[in-house]
Amino acid sequence: MPAGQPSTPAFAADPDARPGLSGVHPDDLVSWVASSEFPPYRARQIADFHWGRHAATASEMHTLPASLRVALERDFRVDTLADTTVRPADAGLTEKALHRLADGRLVESVLMRYPARGSRRERATVCISSQAGCAVGCPFCATGELGFGRDLSVAEIVDQVRFWARRVTADGRRITNVVFMGMGEPLLNADPVIEAATALTDPARFGLGARHVTLSTSGVIPGIERLTALRPAWTLAVSLHAATPGLRDVLVPLNRRYPLADVVRAATDYADVTGRRVSYEYVMIDGINDTPADAEAVGALLRGRLAHVNLIPMNPVAHTAWRPSSAARVAAFADILRLAGVPVTVRRNRGEEIGAACGQLAAEQAGRPAPEAVRRRRDRVEREGAASFSGRP
Ligand code: SF4
Repeated sequence: MPAGQPSTPAFAADPDARPGLSGVHPDDLVSWVASSEFPPYRARQIADFHWGRHAATASEMHTLPASLRVALERDFRVDTLADTTVRPADAGLTEKALHRLADGRLVESVLMRYPARGSRRERATVCISSQAGCAVGCPFCATGELGFGRDLSVAEIVDQVRFWARRVTADGRRITNVVFMGMGEPLLNADPVIEAATALTDPARFGLGARHVTLSTSGVIPGIERLTALRPAWTLAVSLHAATPGLRDVLVPLNRRYPLADVVRAATDYADVTGRRVSYEYVMIDGINDTPADAEAVGALLRGRLAHVNLIPMNPVAHTAWRPSSAARVAAFADILRLAGVPVTVRRNRGEEIGAACGQLAAEQAGRPAPEAVRRRRDRVEREGAASFSGRP
């Protein structure tokens, strides 16, 4: 290997062929119990331990007979996360987990606690990954730098939530919200993501209220249309980041395949059919997409729609020189949207000191990209974006 090249970790094919228990439909668990010649009520007991107490191993299911625990471990993985390291931040209000999967791939999830305020109850939101890496390649995102690894299974997605549920239950708390905004493009892994969201909102499984689940997408129109046909009460979040086609081509390369006007049309159909307001996420990058003209373009795009904009200062990542917009610039942007009649919230970045940018911990573990590769990528993005960047100093 030439000097200075990053090492590429080798990933074995998943050495463990057992399905994850979190991805097993309750009816299939009942069938498995019957075929294993245990009484039917044992399926309910297993589900109670798995979904109610978030068990990580069959040995924790202490009221089951030993023979059933052995059979369960033989046929299923009770937990698909091989090991996890956690880094706390924000005085314990944010924790970020790096999960190692059975084949060695790394994915991240984040727990964000929001203390009770006024009439608002305490919340514990988990942000989860749907893919190891991501093929979309947004230039401000550390996961995009990793490239695409593989899709996660239903159980690998759900077990990230169960991991945090175990931790917060120990403090007498519970998970109140789940957002699919971690590594990966959820709607490019639509089947497992939809099944995972279904398991998380099924009263017989994880039991979260449907309105407390948010699915994000950078604009995969067939996936949005599938959701519209399903009519769930989940919140749809669209990663907007630019309202002009040229700039969005650079910031969200999927825009070349699914143009923004069509994405907004599909998202508006979702809002009309479900009655749920669509959330538009806008990462604020200093001098790139944060000028008054950019804000006016967002206002013109979303005015009169069942929509809400979240402005999020960019998390700095290694491979771009870009920086977050200043607070003053974010506030001015928000004012223009309000004047246009578009509801807007300014979000605070959580966990900057632990690498809160999506994919940042996994990228660190994978080895920093070689400086030459970083320089090439920067040059390409700047070249492609030269005509579109609004007002770079
Ligand atoms: S921002 Fe989302 S869609 Fe874009 S590269 Fe990162 S993980 Fe993928």
